[in-house]
Amino acid sequence: MINQYDAIIIGAGIGGLTSAALLAKKGLKTLLIEKEKQVGGYVVSFKRDGFTIDATGAFVGGCQEGGEFYQILKQIGAHEKVEFIPIHHIQNVYPGFKVCLNQGGFQPYLEALLNLFPEEEKGLRTYVSLVTQIGEEVRSYSERTFIKKILFPLYFPNLVRFYKSSHQVILDRLFKGGEIKMALHTLPATEPPSRLSFLFVATLISKALLEGVFYPKGGMGKISEALANAFQQAGGEIHLQAEVQQILVKNGRVEGILTKDGKIFHSTILVSDFNPNRLFRMLPLEVQRPFLKKMKDLEYSFSCFILYIATNLDLKSRDLPYFTYIRHLSDLEEEGRILQRGDIPAHPTLIVSIPTLLDMSLAPSGQHLIKVLVHVPYPHQEAWGKSDPTKYRRIKDEFSQKVIQQLEAKLIPDLRKHLLFHEAATPLTLERYTGNEMGAMYGLASTPQQMGNVRPPHQTPVKGLFQVGHYTRPSHGIVGASLSGLFATRTILQKMNRV
Ligand SMILES: Cc1cc2nc3c(=O)[nH]c(=O)nc-3n(C[C@H](O)[C@H](O)[C@H](O)COP(=O)(O)OP(=O)(O)OC[C@H]3O[C@@H](n4cnc5c(N)ncnc54)[C@H](O)[C@@H]3O)c2cc1C
Repeated sequence: MINQYDAIIIGAGIGGLTSAALLAKKGLKTLLIEKEKQVGGYVVSFKRDGFTIDATGAFVGGCQEGGEFYQILKQIGAHEKVEFIPIHHIQNVYPGFKVCLNQGGFQPYLEALLNLFPEEEKGLRTYVSLVTQIGEEVRSYSERTFIKKILFPLYFPNLVRFYKSSHQVILDRLFKGGEIKMALHTLPATEPPSRLSFLFVATLISKALLEGVFYPKGGMGKISEALANAFQQAGGEIHLQAEVQQILVKNGRVEGILTKDGKIFHSTILVSDFNPNRLFRMLPLEVQRPFLKKMKDLEYSFSCFILYIATNLDLKSRDLPYFTYIRHLSDLEEEGRILQRGDIPAHPTLIVSIPTLLDMSLAPSGQHLIKVLVHVPYPHQEAWGKSDPTKYRRIKDEFSQKVIQQLEAKLIPDLRKHLLFHEAATPLTLERYTGNEMGAMYGLASTPQQMGNVRPPHQTPVKGLFQVGHYTRPSHGIVGASLSGLFATRTILQKMNRV
């Protein structure tokens, strides 16, 4: 049959790319279908006036030889196609104190904290020990045997014990002062401590941060390019600017997809790499209804405003770090409360990265790129003036100016005099380009209620329909999405007896 494939992947985010490349490597005739002009979803870089700008992220973990992401790239045959630069120089600025590091990894961070808060040593040692034990249990969970499944509480006591714990519960139990809690909640700060799963924090710290984090030379988009190239070399086919509109189902089993421009592609295996809420709306009504109810209960992660700034200031000579986190509010819950209300704090937390300090090839000689990320709510000022382009531009520009002023006051004096250009992305931009509901940065929020086995699985109740990406297990982030692609592919191959 024409347009017949062994597997079709919808959406070329990191989860979709990983799954597509692994299936093609196994010899399956695989189609990857993406609505945008390029692959990568959130992990793309774009060009402006000689600059290469990363649309969203700033780092990735597990890239060292033997690391979790390295191993996936190796399996796909892409591990030698990206050069990863270790990130060493970072600083976190809090109300009243700072933590500056010139060496990557969690250990130097811990030592810096011990120097600042010697009275919290006992709590810190217990915290690190818990994080390490949980990390080991998570690692062993992915290779669990039948016996381990049956005797689960015996083999995984900490996963059982902390299943429902938020980061706040642990911070309050182990520490007296507010400052150390603030410092420990910086690295995984995707939600306020009361909402963030402690198991997620522990896994992130033990996996990515204990081993260091990296920046791909040439820009974050190089990761997606390497995955797509490996997929094509294995015989995979990519269709860009092709938006899937309907999932075709017959007798409870998927049989193909219909694109917006009316093309039909057939397969009995479909892998979706986008928001499950959108996915289920593409299904026929009779299979859709039971899932939509479940979808309503899902909680999305926050969205953000991103400012891309080009400057001719010599930032190298200022000894600035690659990554700076600037927090104004000392109450860790306050910013989350303000965002939940649909507002933005007067002095929001700024997350700043300067990729040209690591890779000069991203900008014309002597010039630099600064990226500032600010958590913002989707409904701010009637969804950023969604229905009125003039209003949208005004709100976006006003907020850009505010961020530049605060950046100048806190990190880069004289910035305004040395701006070459600046450009911004709002939650609407994120939603438009990637289909992420309300511009959710990390898919589902990593709350205790949405981690582990309660996070949506890869296999859906519709036969042959699978889902990957940051709305599914195990979690968000580049490595989380890639792992979802790996796990889903294993299940698919097992079902096809192709392992
Ligand atoms: C601002 C920001 C900063 C971040 N920083 C980091 C970081 O530093 N490190 C890190 O590890 N992670 C970071 N993340 C998170 C990380 O980027 C994501 O968790 C991960 O990339 C999500 O991958 P995904 O596979 O879920 O797909 P997505 O990136 O969500 O991509 C989904 C793809 O599906 C396509 N699609 C949607 N609908 C259709 C359709 N109907 N037909 C065809 N195609 C469709 C979209 O166009 C898109 O390409 C950041 C995210 C954001 C927004």
